Amino acid sequence: MNLHEYQAKELLAGYGIKIQRGLTAETADEAVEAAKKLTEETGTGWHIIKAQVHAGGRGKGGGVKLAKSLDEVKEKAGEIIGMQLITPQTSAEGKLVSTVLVAEDVYYPGESETKEFYMSVLMDRTTGKNVIIYSTEGGMDIEQVAEETPHLVQKEHIDPGVGMLPFQSRKIAFNLGLSGQAFKEMSKFVSKLYKAFVGLDASMVEINPVLKTSDEKIIAVDSKLSIDDNALFRHKDIAEMRDKREEDPTEVEAGSYGLNFIKLDGNVGCMVNGAGLAMATMDIIKLAGGSPANFLDVGGTADAKRVEQAFRIILKDPNVKAILINIFGGIVRCDRVANGVVDAYKNIGDINVPIIVRLQGTNADIAKKIIDDSGLEVHSAILLKEAAEKVASLI
Ligand code: GDP
Ligand code: MN
Repeated sequence: MNLHEYQAKELLAGYGIKIQRGLTAETADEAVEAAKKLTEETGTGWHIIKAQVHAGGRGKGGGVKLAKSLDEVKEKAGEIIGMQLITPQTSAEGKLVSTVLVAEDVYYPGESETKEFYMSVLMDRTTGKNVIIYSTEGGMDIEQVAEETPHLVQKEHIDPGVGMLPFQSRKIAFNLGLSGQAFKEMSKFVSKLYKAFVGLDASMVEINPVLKTSDEKIIAVDSKLSIDDNALFRHKDIAEMRDKREEDPTEVEAGSYGLNFIKLDGNVGCMVNGAGLAMATMDIIKLAGGSPANFLDVGGTADAKRVEQAFRIILKDPNVKAILINIFGGIVRCDRVANGVVDAYKNIGDINVPIIVRLQGTNADIAKKIIDDSGLEVHSAILLKEAAEKVASLI
């Protein structure tokens, strides 16, 4: 589950991480109120107005703007709220901005220069460890830094069983070229960030930029945080922060039916029981020359109701040219699934794409007969290879 920047900052602050302070607003007037309050708390005169959407690169798309007076806060918040924000990480239509974060300006001049760094923590599956990725080249597109100047992106692996050792956070601060007070602050920042990553059951936390202020503080200016869905049961407070407006509406609907659905961009709709079988089915569709439109695991109980819900979800996608149903009848009997498919087909009524059903396992032959005798435009197959080839020939 992804969080908004303002939510992520709130959670990180709970671990003692210094953040750029801010307040949210949904109208230009609320933004002005927020700015006034912040000025009282922080003494800042300038504010930065930031669109709250689940996408990076907001600055480039005009979703992050500096305001040097309350009039400018009103003007810029008014421009950002309600806009369709297009960034390199959104679709071409962009994302509707309904909330902005009004934050204190932390790039104020002072004794020393400000400096932007990059830092993220995630899991490295190849080493089976967590990894802190960091760079002196913060504030910009890290993918571009990695491609053009890979030596400027550094990694520090952390053994999850041992945790982060004190020398590791010092090493990072040293490699970032810091000394004195900023070195100490960075070292603390890194160890707190790692603690937050573990404590929040995050799958990823990315701070870009981490800022060294002109008075040697280390501050999280931006933050992206993804929480492992499987751990949400022990973070009820975080689960409540979910913003469904930011998610694919079909995936949200599928989730409410208990279906495991992920939208893809191919043209063969897939309905499968079991995640592993669903992955294998997608592979075999590709092998046969087709391209999967989705991943869908209907789970163990492929009864008529679930099959119908799954059909409706798949059929929402206009790219779908054929549907492949692949059910292995281990616990569930294939004849029940076949009846479910026929009933669902009749209930929905206007299915105008061909459907190939491959049922294997208990009562597979009875199931095949049910499908073949139904008189509907549903083809049956016993072998998966045969089913995939048939579906590929129909698209
Ligand atoms: P992103 O574009 O979605 O990654 O959004 P960020 O939160 O990273 O903001 C984009 C850029 O805005 C940052 O890289 C900074 O250069 C700039 N920025 C953020 N906060 C401030 C601030 O307080 N003052 C000034 N002057 N610039 C800021
Ligand atoms: Mn950023």
